[in-house]
Amino acid sequence: MYTLAFSILFVSFIVLTLIVRFWLASRQIRHVLAHRNAVPPEFAERIPLAAHQKAADYTVARTKFGLLALLVNTVVLIGFTLFGGLQWLSVQIYQFTGPGMVYQLALLAAFALISGVIDVPFDYYKQFKLEQRFGFNKMTRGLFFADLLKGAALGTAIGLPLVWVVLTLMDKSGALWWFYAWLVWSGFQLLMMVLFPTVIAPLFNKFTPLADQSLKDRIEGLMTRVGFASKGLFVMDGSRRSAHGNAYFSGFGAHKRIVFFDTLLSRLQPHEIEAVLAHELGHFKLKHIVKRIVMIFTISLGFLALLGYLKNQVWFYTGLGVDPLALPGQTNDAMMLLLFMLVLPVFTFLFGPLTSISSRKHEFEADAFAAQHTDARDLVSALVKMYEDNASTLTPDPLHSAFYDTHPPASVRIRQLHQHPTMAAAS
Ligand SMILES: [Zn+2]
Repeated sequence: MYTLAFSILFVSFIVLTLIVRFWLASRQIRHVLAHRNAVPPEFAERIPLAAHQKAADYTVARTKFGLLALLVNTVVLIGFTLFGGLQWLSVQIYQFTGPGMVYQLALLAAFALISGVIDVPFDYYKQFKLEQRFGFNKMTRGLFFADLLKGAALGTAIGLPLVWVVLTLMDKSGALWWFYAWLVWSGFQLLMMVLFPTVIAPLFNKFTPLADQSLKDRIEGLMTRVGFASKGLFVMDGSRRSAHGNAYFSGFGAHKRIVFFDTLLSRLQPHEIEAVLAHELGHFKLKHIVKRIVMIFTISLGFLALLGYLKNQVWFYTGLGVDPLALPGQTNDAMMLLLFMLVLPVFTFLFGPLTSISSRKHEFEADAFAAQHTDARDLVSALVKMYEDNASTLTPDPLHSAFYDTHPPASVRIRQLHQHPTMAAAS
């Protein structure tokens, strides 16, 4: 009874998600194409029509590609669950391994391998057809496959011990296992924040200290003005893979470092780089990063508590095409993790706009911070260049943007910047 009800609920959410995503995508495509033949007036002086049209075509191509990937992922999801794919896989593995930890780790590894293999053609197409067509791909095929292997090795080296710890907690630590698992998970996330910039990112990219002395002086001046201490300024060879440019800062405490993509440095003037950095420092100074971390930890505690409850509900397994009693002497812990991870996005998708709203609010605050500590006109001209270089559309569908975008549309950001007191006084 519950089984059928849960299956129906699951399918309803899948269908609802598909409808909403297709509807938003079709709105986006129509809106972008309708504005393809004219640069919005506020950008007319700075962005050529050809660049505007390239951004429109790139946006449409990516949106269509996203729909194709969505369809395939939905079929795979239903195949794994309602059509019994996971159940079949689990029985096959059990016949080899018998009950125990090896079975559980093998099930998770087999699932990761299968879904990884399904992703490869999509990633390949995206990089060598889509990005290539618009001139963004800088990767060789050798680098693509080297990244793939490195990523898989890294995922195994980090992921296997982590799930081993979680599975052991599920088995041995009693009813509150989900709380201990949350502690482990949170600790792991914090550890990653330290290890990512110093150990993991250097496996994929080269980081060299920023050499340009006058730019360095300028940036250090800014950091002193806003009261920010950093372990270092680095340039990353982003141009090995993509022409897209970016700047970010990572780590925390004594490990903070600022990273510029070489592609960004080659395009922006020093004063524009300073403005972009001021925006990033704004995120830090206004505690956006800490707030985000706290929010993520709180939400994951809620999800783990839910996982702790669902683990003992037979309908959750049977409703998703798994027989929890099929394997003698074997707990369903690994299966539970898989099912939960697979179906959670189906049920949370419609809440996505909530995080987009808070993220966009933070972007406005960081822009205002940059306008306060540098010249707002520099941030405007940097944004215009970055939108043009990344072929980001200047005319997104407002609803599509409100649903998905972590950053407000360019025109809205620039309008806000123009209204900033320092700017109003200067013009
Ligand atoms: Zn930002």
